[in-house]
Amino acid sequence: MNVTSQSWVVLADDPAVSALVEAARVLGTEVVALVVGRREIAEQTARAGVDQVVWLGEPTDGTPVEAYAGEVARIIADAAPRVVLGAATPAGRVMLGAVAARLHAPVLAGIGSVELAGDQVVVSRTVLGGIAEHRTAVSGGTAVLALAPGAPADAAGVPVAIEEVPATPTTSATITDVRVKEQAKVDLGAARTVVAIGRGLKTREDLALVNDLAEAIGGEVACSRPLAEGVDWVAKERYVGISGQHIAPDLYVAIGISGQLQHMVGVRGAKVVVAINSDKAAPIFAQCDYGIVGDLYQVVPALTAALGAGA
Ligand SMILES: Cc1cc2nc3c(=O)[nH]c(=O)nc-3n(C[C@H](O)[C@H](O)[C@H](O)COP(=O)(O)OP(=O)(O)OC[C@H]3O[C@@H](n4cnc5c(N)ncnc54)[C@H](O)[C@@H]3O)c2cc1C
Repeated sequence: MNVTSQSWVVLADDPAVSALVEAARVLGTEVVALVVGRREIAEQTARAGVDQVVWLGEPTDGTPVEAYAGEVARIIADAAPRVVLGAATPAGRVMLGAVAARLHAPVLAGIGSVELAGDQVVVSRTVLGGIAEHRTAVSGGTAVLALAPGAPADAAGVPVAIEEVPATPTTSATITDVRVKEQAKVDLGAARTVVAIGRGLKTREDLALVNDLAEAIGGEVACSRPLAEGVDWVAKERYVGISGQHIAPDLYVAIGISGQLQHMVGVRGAKVVVAINSDKAAPIFAQCDYGIVGDLYQVVPALTAALGAGA
């Protein structure tokens, strides 16, 4: 199949686009954004550093954006771009799946970076718990890539024109109910100080110790996966690691966390790591800047008292 040199970015009613545009820009080609969803998303995207926005028009009331996936696939197949990038979100995956099916192309997911080598699109992915990089080259057709979409477009950007291409849903899916998930808003990625707790904690009630320390030093609370997906003591949005949050705080305090690779991958960007662990042979002591060998039930209250008093 002959492809053009364009890159297309598909957005499913979500303004998060910065990483998609950045990846498309690396390929050095014209970037077209195809927006399914509300007009305001198209307007935000027009300021995101793309060359062109194609908008499928205001969605019919009660129709999910996924119902337009067939139209998205048709439009992209007609354009035959070299690369299609979309968000690795539930709706984004539906769009990319439809595009890939239409083009008989695979979807490559979990993409870290994208580059052009000759006429091949080469994507890199982290594998084996973060210790290796896997590179895949796509040639002879469209590369369909799913990746973390990044932040919404900067409202100060200069907008490009929006071309409206009205589309009709290709399936009869209907939204029957919308329930907002009750959860505390957490932005671990933006936190400068993070206090994380692991399986060294004996009971849920003991989380108060960790909350107190976090409050004393102005930090957010995080955890290792077993506390969020095993005993469910901490919200899932707060676990750090390869399958959780990847964060880069100035200070990361790991309490009762052994330091397994799958956890530590999530804090590679931390400037200073402090570990508190009762086992002096715990792997985390080989990966931290400061280590305290001791029982968290003694060390943490003592730190809270000392640091809180000085705050
Ligand atoms: C595919 C896959 C993906 C995964 N993804 C993630 C991920 O994203 N994030 C993640 O965190 N994990 C992840 N895991 C799990 C990971 O491998 C570890 O099992 C997990 O990180 C261990 O959590 P932990 O350090 O809290 O518990 P443990 O390994 O059990 O460590 C508990 C630590 O607490 C210490 N301790 C005990 N009592 C005390 C005390 N009183 N005072 C001080 N210290 C004490 C112990 O010495 C020990 O070092 C993944 C695993 C797999 C297979």
